[in-house]
Amino acid sequence: MNRYDYIIVGSGIAGLYTALLAKKHGSVLVITKGSIDDCNTRYAQGGIAAAVGKYDSIKLHFQDTIAAGDGLCDEDAVSILVNEAPERITDLVNFGVPFDTIDGEIALTMEAAHSVPRILHAGGDATGEHVEVTLSKQARSSKIQILENCLATEIIAENGIVKGIKTLDYRTGSAEEVGCRSLILATGGAGQLFKFNTNSDVVTGDGIALAFNAGAEITDMEFFQFHPTALRLPGVTPFLISEAVRGEGGVLRNVNGYRFMPDYTPEADLASRDVVARSILYEMKKTGSDKVFIDAIHLPTSITTTRFPHIYRFCLDHGLDITRDLIPVAPAAHYMIGGVKTDNWGETNIAGLFAVGETACTGVHGANRLASNSLIEALVFGRRIIEKTRKRAGRRAPAARRGTKACQQLSQRQVPKTVPAPSLSALQRLLCDKVGIIRHQQSLTKAADILAAWQKSLAPPTDRPSYELNNLVLTGRLVTEAALLREESRGAHFRTDFPQSSPQWQRHIIFTR
Ligand SMILES: Cc1cc2nc3c(=O)[nH]c(=O)nc-3n(C[C@H](O)[C@H](O)[C@H](O)COP(=O)(O)OP(=O)(O)OC[C@H]3O[C@@H](n4cnc5c(N)ncnc54)[C@H](O)[C@@H]3O)c2cc1C
Repeated sequence: MNRYDYIIVGSGIAGLYTALLAKKHGSVLVITKGSIDDCNTRYAQGGIAAAVGKYDSIKLHFQDTIAAGDGLCDEDAVSILVNEAPERITDLVNFGVPFDTIDGEIALTMEAAHSVPRILHAGGDATGEHVEVTLSKQARSSKIQILENCLATEIIAENGIVKGIKTLDYRTGSAEEVGCRSLILATGGAGQLFKFNTNSDVVTGDGIALAFNAGAEITDMEFFQFHPTALRLPGVTPFLISEAVRGEGGVLRNVNGYRFMPDYTPEADLASRDVVARSILYEMKKTGSDKVFIDAIHLPTSITTTRFPHIYRFCLDHGLDITRDLIPVAPAAHYMIGGVKTDNWGETNIAGLFAVGETACTGVHGANRLASNSLIEALVFGRRIIEKTRKRAGRRAPAARRGTKACQQLSQRQVPKTVPAPSLSALQRLLCDKVGIIRHQQSLTKAADILAAWQKSLAPPTDRPSYELNNLVLTGRLVTEAALLREESRGAHFRTDFPQSSPQWQRHIIFTR
């Protein structure tokens, strides 16, 4: 069996940035499911948050993150995030990410729930693409070994210590085992759980399933962020219309042309994502429509085309000139707030197993992620993983770690007699209909029963689609069971049967196998 100091699963911002740091301290293998740039990072538009502006401060960034997290942020993790963010931006600049500037100064934009303009961007609304392409070029020109079209299928661990990973080259069917000292999961989120989502099709909850099956703790899965404004055009995938469009002055209107957000909240169009997403759903229901509109027509054409060239071009290609036409939008699943539970050094309860980026739950987002805090989270905690592990290079394997006492297992369920056959589209419809933005006990129970039945009936996976379906069903169960347990509404989790937050629930739900 080949052995590496580091194996990193995933080649988005979390995987590649961590790999570039790791290569200074040992041998590195990156395993990635598609080609190197197939990931969510590439799609990020709005930008990356860090308190680098004249009118900003670490304290303000801290306060905004805590306020968005609605009582569930880990304050130590947030403090680490906001303090280390400016230096991580310098790292990106040094790698060659071409952030936009105005008169020689870094350009900063405003996004919902930030109290000052704080968001750095590149290529207008093509931040993620610039970050991904810069890091992947760096990784390719370094000595990092990269295996593309390779699926991580199972973590090898013994007595609570990681030993390596099983992989499948799904084009040839060849399965292998590779050993390592540190295994870093950077597999992204699980947006493909939902019919309407903004995510890449490689994002199927694999890291959650790999970690859970190996005995890792998984937390905060009930909090799934829906982006309020994804393009809603027949036959077109729900392409994101960045919050920054509203940050620059765009406003939401219902199908009758009425500007509705001020009726729901004083923050109007720049309220937090969960509030805007729910308000849009109510408005869609009220007007009997499947969409609302963003009105950016009044913005100067030069702003629209230079700040949002990507969105402008995408819409134009689909017959919409957003300098003249309203943009039809509806909410779509966007970001997995929960994930593999880590400490402030990115390590899980399994010694040598780390998680970073969207697949990890460091505690910085609490119950609701502040916009543009996820790219920066991947950098800050990726760096900390390497800080921690480099001290171990050449030493004995790490000792087994203790888990959290308050963990629970997935509940046993009475499997219903008749259930639809499991398939990706059936799963995505189920989650969208019953575990979406607005939830209640009956629909959650129905979904939980069906998911449990599917989990029992699925055959052992053999190829990429069957691994992905197995992983999504397990991840969907974790989301649904956590949403059922949390009998309150908080952050991104909203239940009509428990519409208020409750002090009793100012705690986390943690699952383990
Ligand atoms: C449309 C869109 C816009 C966004 N805009 C912003 C923004 O402006 N600012 C912000 O901060 N965040 C934004 N986000 C969120 C942010 O982009 C993601 O949270 C972040 O990019 C996640 O990075 P990652 O490296 O953790 O995962 P990803 O970039 O998703 O990468 C995951 C990697 O894991 C690989 N992988 C998965 N499973 C396996 C497996 N079993 N075996 C091998 N490889 C595997 C994938 O192939 C991929 O390479 C946006 C997200 C979307 C979808």
